Formats: sequence, structure tokens, C-alpha cells
Amino acid sequence: MRVIPQLKPISVIQRPDEVILLGRALEATYLDDDNGSVTALLRLLAEGSRTVAELPAAMRERGFEVTEDEMAAAVGALDDVGVLLRAGDDGLDAATLRRHESNLRFYDLFAGLQRTSAQFHRGMASADVLLLGAGGMGSGVLQSLVGLGAGRVRVVDFDHVEEKNLARQFAYGHADVGRPKVEAAKDWAARYCGETTVVESVHARVSDVDGIVALGRGASLVVCAIDSPDDVHLLVNRACFELGVPFVTGGLQYSTLFYWSVHPGVSACRLCLQLNREDEGGARPELAEQSVVLPAGRVNRATGPVAQLLAGFVAMEAGRYLTGTDEPVAAGVYHTVELADGMRTTRVPWPRNPRCPLC
Ligand SMILES: [Zn+2]
Repeated sequence: MRVIPQLKPISVIQRPDEVILLGRALEATYLDDDNGSVTALLRLLAEGSRTVAELPAAMRERGFEVTEDEMAAAVGALDDVGVLLRAGDDGLDAATLRRHESNLRFYDLFAGLQRTSAQFHRGMASADVLLLGAGGMGSGVLQSLVGLGAGRVRVVDFDHVEEKNLARQFAYGHADVGRPKVEAAKDWAARYCGETTVVESVHARVSDVDGIVALGRGASLVVCAIDSPDDVHLLVNRACFELGVPFVTGGLQYSTLFYWSVHPGVSACRLCLQLNREDEGGARPELAEQSVVLPAGRVNRATGPVAQLLAGFVAMEAGRYLTGTDEPVAAGVYHTVELADGMRTTRVPWPRNPRCPLC
């Protein structure tokens, strides 16, 4: 395939004898440019219209002699620092480019000459997600997945829409009150973007490993957005080892959001965490047992923004698994966001436990 390197739309700062590339907010690349050749090359790459083999001739027109080997090395170095992508739409049709423009431009952050944003999108479009729960977190995750163009989402939930849900479950409206959430969720997805996401809804309660395995057969990812039974995380953990797919989960306890994921065979698992807690006797408060969505007593303690934040963190982690843009950040890593204390965040990795029969 004919690869045309193109400079990403990043900030390029020119200084005497130096060029600074600002690829990301916290990432700057400094390049010596005493003769102006780097600036000339960056200008050509910004146009995104020449292959590596065609670039030396264009540089010669601008007064710089560069061999094809030197050009390949320079382009390779720029690709290594993440400022290049492959020009063109990589085979996506016009309707997909329109509909997913902002998703694709976000993926550009992670794209390079070997990995295109279109490939990341195709990963999402071929995804098959088992979503356990369509409440405060689950309905928000569903909305994000549909917006991202996930190929298929199977929603499992046993609740009906209640008026109090309307404070923070934006997939539902007044007309849905009294309906099973799975039906309302399916209707919402069809109305919102029926052509890219098929939602299969299952009005059922999750109670054992076999049930989760049966629901998840063929899925590429499981999102756990339910808080019962009490050991639901351990059940989902075991089921995901059987299915051979990762799962992502999160929740809210008092004023603390938390989220984490498990990649079976790659990261430490939820049973490892349980065994670590037993070994440590609860010595690490940041890893203390926490309920999934709501604390005991089922208090509806979450505003719309809180539920959206939580769903966003979980959906982003799901997206990392499904698209491959970047490594999952929460695989075997307990992330918290303290909403009541200046938005302090923590990330605490937990190790594999040698006694874990799964890992
Ligand atoms: Zn384990």
C-alpha cells in the first residue's frame, strides 16, 4: 500500500536554530534546525501529499539535498515521536467519515504510519459488548458505546425505569417510566443511531458464573455495571476467564468514583485482589472492599455529572480494549477520583496473588 506520511495537526513552534513539536499537552519534541531543513520538511509533511520516495525531490526544490535513506530515517524518527499519521481515509466510506469525524480525529492522537485511526474505528465497529446493567453507570456507558459506533451491545438488566432515574440516566425519559430499562435502552439506541449499533436486550437478573458465560458467549468485552449479588465482581471475573475476554467496571462509594479492569492472563485479576486483601488483613484502605454502583441501603447518591464522569471513565477503558488505541490504564489498577476533596485522583496497581487459581 502507498503510504503518504502527514504531519498531525499539532502545534509547531519555531525558535532560532530550533523547532519544538507539541504533540500532546505534556509532550514536547525539540529538533535542531540550524539550516532550516527541518522546517522545510515539516511544511512538506503538513501537506500530506508525497511518499517518502517523493520527498527528496521536493526538498531539493527548496535547496536541501537529502537521500532517500536519510529521508526514510527522518520520517521514521518523526513517526517514533508520534507526530505523523497516514494521509487519506484508509478506505472508510463517506458516511462513516461524516458520522465519526470527531471519533477519528481523537484516534489520530494514537495513530501513526503503521496504525491508522480507521483501524481503531473498525475495532470499535466490530466490537460485541456484553453490558451488565443499564442503570446510572450502564446507561451512560451504552450511550458512549453507541456514539463511538460499537458494532453490537447486549444489554442485561432487570429493573424498570423510575422517575428518580431521570436525574442522571439520560437514555430514559418521562415516557419510559415503568418500562423495563432494557427495552427503553434498546429504543434509545435505535433512535439515536440505529445503523451502527444493534442492541440486544435481555430482561434478566445476573446470579451465577454460568449465566454470565451464556450471556457473554462470542462477546469481545464485558462491562459490569451492576452491584448485586454482592460477589458480582468475582462472578464476572471467573466468567471472563472462561470467555477469555476482559471486563471493565466501576462505581461510586460516598464521594469516591472508582474504576478498574481485568485482562485475563495479562493483568492481575479480581480474585487476586480478594486474596491480597485476605493476606493483608485490610491494611491498605485504598483497596478496601467497595460496592459497585451504590453503597449499602441503595442510596441514589449521584448527580448527572457524577454518573457521566463514571460512565466516561469506564467507556474510555472499554474503548482502549476494543480499539487498541493505547494500553488499558486500569488493568489490575484501582483508579479513584475523590469528588469531594479537590478532585484528588489515585491509581493503585494490585499484584497477582500466588494463590490465585485463575492467574
Ligand atoms: Zn488472579
